[in-house]
Amino acid sequence: MNQDLDQFRQETRAWLEANCPPSMRLPLRSEKDATWGGRNPIYAHPDQKLWMERMGARGWTVPDWPKEYGGGGLSAAETKILREEMAAIRARNPLNSFGISMLGPALLKYGTEEQKLEHLPKIARGEIRWCQGYSEPNAGSDLAGLQTSAEDAGDHFIVNGQKVWTSYADQADWIFCLVRTDKTSKQGGISFLLFDMASEGVSTKPILLISGNSPFCETFFDDVKVPKSNLLGELNKGWDVAKYLLGHEREMISNMGAGGIDPLVEAARKGVDPILRGQIALFQVRARAFAAMSERFIDELKAGRAHPAQPSMMKYYGTELNKIRHELLMAAGGSDALEWESEASIHGAAARAWLRTKANSIEGGTSEIQLNIIAKRILDLPS
Ligand SMILES: Cc1cc2nc3c(=O)[nH]c(=O)nc-3n(C[C@H](O)[C@H](O)[C@H](O)COP(=O)(O)OP(=O)(O)OC[C@H]3O[C@@H](n4cnc5c(N)ncnc54)[C@H](O)[C@@H]3O)c2cc1C
Repeated sequence: MNQDLDQFRQETRAWLEANCPPSMRLPLRSEKDATWGGRNPIYAHPDQKLWMERMGARGWTVPDWPKEYGGGGLSAAETKILREEMAAIRARNPLNSFGISMLGPALLKYGTEEQKLEHLPKIARGEIRWCQGYSEPNAGSDLAGLQTSAEDAGDHFIVNGQKVWTSYADQADWIFCLVRTDKTSKQGGISFLLFDMASEGVSTKPILLISGNSPFCETFFDDVKVPKSNLLGELNKGWDVAKYLLGHEREMISNMGAGGIDPLVEAARKGVDPILRGQIALFQVRARAFAAMSERFIDELKAGRAHPAQPSMMKYYGTELNKIRHELLMAAGGSDALEWESEASIHGAAARAWLRTKANSIEGGTSEIQLNIIAKRILDLPS
């Protein structure tokens, strides 16, 4: 077995060496360098397309999904080796995708065979870009309070309502969307629908932020016709699908805590301000504890022993850790790190990344909500 894994490691290393373009081994300079794929893809560099297609053809954008759905069919041990070998050459993520990190796992668990065969291979190859229609103006933390309705119209639903904070809705091809199909029950009246953003009656409006960028949209549905075959899971049981997907979203966001502060550790070895040195050491201790916890969590998940609220623990700690990391990087960079517009500062990459971390403890459910879940479901504290 170990011999097989050794051989797999050698072959993987050789394949990555031959196929990962050198430009895809450099850190992202801005969000524009990330590869999202979709029907109308935007590539800051042609190698992004090449790298996504090469990895997608091998199923390695989703290495542990079954081969029949476009995955790599790798075991947990092989997947870990692939990730380690990619990290060793600093290979970029070939595809950023809400389809991979959120919808895919929910489709694998709740989808019909037709739904899996229709959507999963396209997600794996980056052909369709998905967005998430969960939050509404009066339903964020209290998500089950959502009001967007889907009326039964025979062989299809008619969807009306509004979503908010829909990341990249204006660039997405399809949406996974929570809708109300029964007004008499809060959680028990929600269903989970998949539909094309090009459907008649769907419109989006970017929400301009202080940075001048706009990843968020308001999304409006005006008599949108959605075939009933696009219902994921059972009618009125979408809350189960929604929670399962949120677990994966929180796990994905918690991964942000897994990054390092290598240049700072180097600097600390050579000698820096003693207070900063102490903070760097404390960060390293926390980062190692988080890495050990993540490893244990993934093993428990694969073995089917994970507590359903574990992603909340990971999300809370991972996002707080990511904030501390960027605070440290800014502190070490001093006033240079605040530089906003120049080639030297890569157009304020450090400052923009630091500001972006502030959203980590809001997106996918706020830190307060994660602490509530941990208190109730893990520590068994009274409400
Ligand atoms: C970067 C980013 C990307 C996002 N992308 C998407 C997306 O693609 N699709 C989507 O559907 N949504 C998206 N969201 C929305 C996100 O899921 C919501 O912002 C989040 O769930 C919080 O809801 P809210 O904004 O309505 O805040 P509210 O629910 O109004 O909460 C406001 C404050 O009150 C606190 N609070 C609320 N209830 C409680 C309670 N019971 N106990 C203690 N404290 C409480 C919250 O923790 C928070 O601090 C995104 C958000 C961000 C920041």
